[in-house]
Amino acid sequence: TAHVETLQFQSEARQLLQLVIHSIYSNKDTFLRELVSNASDALDKLRLEAFRDKELAADTSDLHVDIEVDKDKRTLTVRDNGIGMARDEVVGLIGTIAKSGTAEFLRKLKEAQDAAGSQELIGRFGIGFYSSFMVADKVTLVTRRAGSAEGVRWESSGESTYTIEPVSDAPQGTAVTLHLKPADPEEHLHDYTAREKLVEIIKRYSDFITWPVRVVPEDGGEPETINSRKALWARPASEVTEDEYTEFYRHLSHDWNAPLETIRLRAEGTFEYQALLFLPSRAPLDLFMRERKRGVQLYVKRVFVMDDCEELMPEYLRFVKGVVDAQDLSLNVSREILQQDRHIQLMRRRLVKKILSTVKSMMTEKPDDYATFWREFGRAVKEGLLDDFDNRDAILDIASFDSTHDPEKPTTLAQYVERMKEGQEHIYYMTGESRTRIENSPHLEAFRAKGFEVLVLTDPIDEMWVDAVAGFGGKKFQSIAKGEVDLDTEDEKKETQARQEDFAELLSWLTETLGEGVKEVRLSSRLTTSPACIVGDTHELSPMMEKMYRAMGQ
Ligand code: ADP
Ligand code: MG
Repeated sequence: TAHVETLQFQSEARQLLQLVIHSIYSNKDTFLRELVSNASDALDKLRLEAFRDKELAADTSDLHVDIEVDKDKRTLTVRDNGIGMARDEVVGLIGTIAKSGTAEFLRKLKEAQDAAGSQELIGRFGIGFYSSFMVADKVTLVTRRAGSAEGVRWESSGESTYTIEPVSDAPQGTAVTLHLKPADPEEHLHDYTAREKLVEIIKRYSDFITWPVRVVPEDGGEPETINSRKALWARPASEVTEDEYTEFYRHLSHDWNAPLETIRLRAEGTFEYQALLFLPSRAPLDLFMRERKRGVQLYVKRVFVMDDCEELMPEYLRFVKGVVDAQDLSLNVSREILQQDRHIQLMRRRLVKKILSTVKSMMTEKPDDYATFWREFGRAVKEGLLDDFDNRDAILDIASFDSTHDPEKPTTLAQYVERMKEGQEHIYYMTGESRTRIENSPHLEAFRAKGFEVLVLTDPIDEMWVDAVAGFGGKKFQSIAKGEVDLDTEDEKKETQARQEDFAELLSWLTETLGEGVKEVRLSSRLTTSPACIVGDTHELSPMMEKMYRAMGQ
């Protein structure tokens, strides 16, 4: 008809769809988890919007997700009566990928040589709605935004285009119909028209969804609710299995991998709340991108209130996922109120402490997990040394650094201090662009020759916190590239003094000749094989900082 438009997928979306269609992702069952997860989000959003906007012409009386199959047509439909989408939203949300880190994801995917590498990447990225195309060769979506009169019909076979047209009789919410590919067990493609299979998938992946997830019998009988609908954080910890936590984490985070660590917290008394937090096992691709979202989900008495609640999580813990459910907040709570609320600040402080102490116990109880954590998130956590004054010591406690002691294994500061030589006053470090650069630096020579361990700091953030942080365990940090570093015994000092006098003429000649270029020329005890090196003043910028400031145009 005249109203049907054919539109192009945005190019990233097109690339992603190609990938999904030629899917290398073996667990195809996950498509249903994604559709149910989207339906559940849509119901959460509707309840919240109806609560905030009393004028909204929406029906919230019987919110649910229905799954319906037609064996003859080989279709499967996931239908919700949630918030729905307007035409522009369909184009913007389904026809494009707005997720930050997409470009990075596609670039890495091109580089990934093998199927395992691609699977792992897809797992970290999470392909959401597009996972439908793992099992379907055509997808039809009919949706109507709550409060709006007209609906939209969208259809695509996952090639470069989709069609979109208005529909007048769409019910409120969204129905996604998959035209299923023939079952092919070799390709992990099951018969998704079989009721038992659907029940199995819903129980495994979507049991905790708070809305009824129902299977509609083919004969048109009463729909049957399959999920138990219990909020995980409200159940006793001893009753919840690891698989349940994992699936809940996946729903929240859109990460397809399992979390590295699960953290539960319960506060009773005047301000009651429960928290269920997760440390992911891999850093997201957009961890260092500005536009990325952060923060946990906020619930009030089991009712979803807010995504990405930044007020509850500091920037340097932006990778932490989870839910906080508070008893005594209003459903109407706004960001402004959260920012000022003293209870919220106390809650945030407590969550941060709990996360840091959990990582600390991982160090002794699960050293491999701790190593993974630090490798993936250490660079972000170190930002806390600058931002979170109260927890500086706790962050230093859980930090690890490369060091000259063992090139294979980072060291904690406590381990460094334990290995310090007798009489050593400082924790020595050197900053630089790379480990090789630092190792080839003449500054390191004397330290190496005398057997002093030096921390090898190569992250840009390292430059900043070493200046800001006083020390660790009573030992100050000392750059080996700055100021006069005293490694000598009394006898060696006398010898240097004598030599200084012997070379006095040469040194003053050098100082004059080099003129403006240098402040002073000194005999050095740092060097063993290089003839000379340049040393910064204690309070001067290091060469890397100088570069950074220059790059910023200062
Ligand atoms: P994600 O859920 O990670 O955002 P998806 O690919 O699963 O990514 O979905 C993309 C977007 O499409 C969602 O964020 C949501 O805005 C919209 N959407 C998908 N399914 C529905 C639905 N059933 N009802 C309303 N909006 C939906
Ligand atoms: Mg989704």
